[in-house]
Amino acid sequence: MAKGTKSAAKRAFKMYIDGKWVDSEDGGTFDVVSPASGQVLGSFPKGTADDAKAAVEAAVRAQDAARTMPIKERARLGVRIAEEIHRNIKEYAVDCSLEHGKPLRESIAEVEDAIPNIQWQVEDLKRWDSPAQEGFSKENVLYMSLHEPLGTVVTITPWNFPWVLPAEFVVQAMLAGNSVVFKPASNTPISAVHLMECIDKARVPPGIINMVTGPGGEVGTTLVEHPLVDGIGFTGETTTGLDIAKRAGLKKLTLELGGLGPLIIMDDAKVEPAVEDIAFGCFTTTGHCCVANERIFVHEEIHDKVVKALVDRVKKMRVGFPLDAETDMGPINNRSTLLKVERHVADAVKRGAKVVAGGKRVPGMPTDLYYYPTVVDDVPPEALFNTAETFGPTAPILRFSDLDEAIEMANAPRYGLSMAIHTANLRVAMEAAKRLKAGQICINEPVYSWDYFNPWGGFRNSGLGRIAGRWSLDAFSELKTVMFNVGRSPWPD
Ligand code: NAD
Repeated sequence: MAKGTKSAAKRAFKMYIDGKWVDSEDGGTFDVVSPASGQVLGSFPKGTADDAKAAVEAAVRAQDAARTMPIKERARLGVRIAEEIHRNIKEYAVDCSLEHGKPLRESIAEVEDAIPNIQWQVEDLKRWDSPAQEGFSKENVLYMSLHEPLGTVVTITPWNFPWVLPAEFVVQAMLAGNSVVFKPASNTPISAVHLMECIDKARVPPGIINMVTGPGGEVGTTLVEHPLVDGIGFTGETTTGLDIAKRAGLKKLTLELGGLGPLIIMDDAKVEPAVEDIAFGCFTTTGHCCVANERIFVHEEIHDKVVKALVDRVKKMRVGFPLDAETDMGPINNRSTLLKVERHVADAVKRGAKVVAGGKRVPGMPTDLYYYPTVVDDVPPEALFNTAETFGPTAPILRFSDLDEAIEMANAPRYGLSMAIHTANLRVAMEAAKRLKAGQICINEPVYSWDYFNPWGGFRNSGLGRIAGRWSLDAFSELKTVMFNVGRSPWPD
């Protein structure tokens, strides 16, 4: 039985504050219900503002222990946490699939992905250099810029990748020498408890990493506004990011926000890989991805071939229970996302688009959250699909006639996380790479791509700051310059 669990019959999970598994101070709880089966998976403490404050106070008390921990010891803790995750990949993946809805093989890949993600940061920590320079305006002066932890960092994460997203913030903030308070999303907190079990088993000293569960409107805002919090790492919706930016004051912010990633298919692209990338980037994890292909721009010369091949491909996909081996796509995670998907499809149809695959819920499933993978053709640029993140299993197709038009449509909504282009022409690819306004441009790849070592983050409405690799360590630290007059050493009489 898991350590954060009270009993095997009804799983009653706990929060983790100051090295102890605890209930909320007023005893309140909330249930986590599986979108796949409709069953209650467990109950969680419904943290309050006082719980959030208690977690911050524990983290502040642990700041010196975190800051003074030798780099070698921090690295050892990171390695141990990764080893603990490795021990239970299958168990963690099953819980991830049940609380999220994604197929088991995707959950296994996600839990596995957390391991090299942490290991990479450990390696970067070992080589985390900083500049030293001789003086320009004064002689005999040496400047050393040293990395200094922020102090206490709050990390707040969404539900769509319950392992990868906490794994790229929580452990990294500790590796950079901070104490941490982690608030996971309320739809998928079981994976967060498992991560905390790994942190506990790795013997991270009490108070250095704490976790509070509960509503964003109370726990999240209390953490964000708390005067003793020094930095915030947030992943979630752009509107929530804006709210956090208004409340946080001058805390150091890293905001990983929404995307509206376009995949541009030029007339010289190869149809088969383009269709594979459309299907992968639209329907993996039920389209619940910040770097899903939210919009597919297809050159008019190649449009009919691409759409026909895509519809054939999508009709072969099996929607089913996430733990069944033959399932390609599970349910939508929650009702508000389902309703948004339905709203965006209806809006496009009202404006003249055609549903050429899917476009409705799957009957006879354990919940009504199962929705067919959907292709909507001839979506006009003014449709919601092209202006607001859908975050569901849809491939909206928009036609274009030249690169200028595609780039203009791509940049217009002012989101800029990841954008992609398929073309056989290197000149066109590089022109697009320069003119598209996003943190990542993928050439002959789907929008849906990332790795652990590239600076990750968005332009414009997609966020602030960079994470992954050494950029996570930079995000959770400050540079402090020490100016050193070597000529006065020893101090002259
Ligand atoms: P969300 O903004 O609704 O919630 C994210 C987290 O913030 C949750 O833990 C929630 O409880 C908390 N929260 C809500 N209101 C808050 C407030 N006022 N103050 C503090 N915390 C608050 O997002 P979501 O629906 O869980 O996630 C989906 C979004 O995340 C999508 O827009 C997606 O594109 C984005 N996302 C971005 C990235 C990236 O790398 N840029 C990665 C994954 C997801």
